[in-house]
Amino acid sequence: MNLDMIYLDMIYLDHAATTPVKPEALQAAWPWLTSDFGNPSSSHELGHRSAVALEQARATVAKFFNVRASEVTFTSGGTESDNLAIIGLALANPRGKHIVSARTEHEAVLSALDFLERMHDFEISWLELDEFGQVLNFETALRPDTTLVSLMIANNEIGTVHDIAHLTNEAHKVGALFHTDAVQAVGWIDLDVKKLGVDALSISGHKFGAPKGSGVLILRAGAKAEPLIHGGGQESGLRSGTENVAWAVAIATALELLAPVDEEAQRVARLRDEFIQKVQQLVPSAKLTGHPINRSPNIASFTLQGVSGEAVLLELERKNVIVSSGSACAAGSDEPSHVLVAIGVETEIAQTAIRFSLAHETTADQLDAAAHALAESVANFI
Ligand code: PLP
Repeated sequence: MNLDMIYLDMIYLDHAATTPVKPEALQAAWPWLTSDFGNPSSSHELGHRSAVALEQARATVAKFFNVRASEVTFTSGGTESDNLAIIGLALANPRGKHIVSARTEHEAVLSALDFLERMHDFEISWLELDEFGQVLNFETALRPDTTLVSLMIANNEIGTVHDIAHLTNEAHKVGALFHTDAVQAVGWIDLDVKKLGVDALSISGHKFGAPKGSGVLILRAGAKAEPLIHGGGQESGLRSGTENVAWAVAIATALELLAPVDEEAQRVARLRDEFIQKVQQLVPSAKLTGHPINRSPNIASFTLQGVSGEAVLLELERKNVIVSSGSACAAGSDEPSHVLVAIGVETEIAQTAIRFSLAHETTADQLDAAAHALAESVANFI
């Protein structure tokens, strides 16, 4: 069966959940799974070739983030990068065992913090947030003994963007380290790590055309972290285990393929705003969630008042429009989105949430069709 036939008419607007692997990334990875299958730690030529490919991939990633190659660690994805950054930095630099974060973070961050609280007696201060998910009390939440701040750049459900460069600067004034989950920001927001000033930054390959199970943690020189996985000492001892050369090459290739953020972000943000306007015209009950301006270019998220987000998702799927009813991890569960609850949305309303997430390839026609499909779907339930 030709899979292309099945997906020909599909309008896929769930790129924040995952993206298709770019053919170039797969092609670049292929030799490292087949003819050039050597272990990068082996002394023979086959191993040496893999080691060279791995280091070339590392250099490409380093260039993208404007850091040194020694500051790049390949991981198995966003979840591992978040855990390694948060648990690794906290255990290596305990100071006052105090961490500042927000309840709108991804589960990968929240669960790592929960582990530190339960198993290592860390205290977590949760930031106060406004109705858009913006931080209200950053300076007062910091303490002279704060170990670490973990705050994402762009929220995966509501798209709200934090001013990480400013917040990092404030955190550094009290000597705290700063980790940012940049999983949803790649390709949409400038991720020059020197400009951001962060000590650690996590990304996940499958959000921008690399395979699932590929990720990177940028850890600045000087920021010491305890490894989570112990063994042969690969990745400078930070992440033992034979390196996944193919996925490292794929993630580096996918990063290289991204268009410069400045023009691209503005172009897609315009498409997104037209889409938001159209949805609000056609579905008067639709209320935008997240900040209207400080939001990632690719995310348009709404609550629908009185109509279950999950039911609308299924109805949209019947019309070949693929979206999410919140975060992918919460899909299928009746639990309201923890992000919406954290910004004060009532449980009942939170259960009506729906998220459209765009790609660079998304067209105005696709968005127009999606807005009309949404209007028809919602109308079915009223
Ligand atoms: N952080 C954010 C903001 C995410 O959106 C995701 C994935 O949805 C993750 C972390 C986890 O990344 P991965 O799926 O690569 O483990």
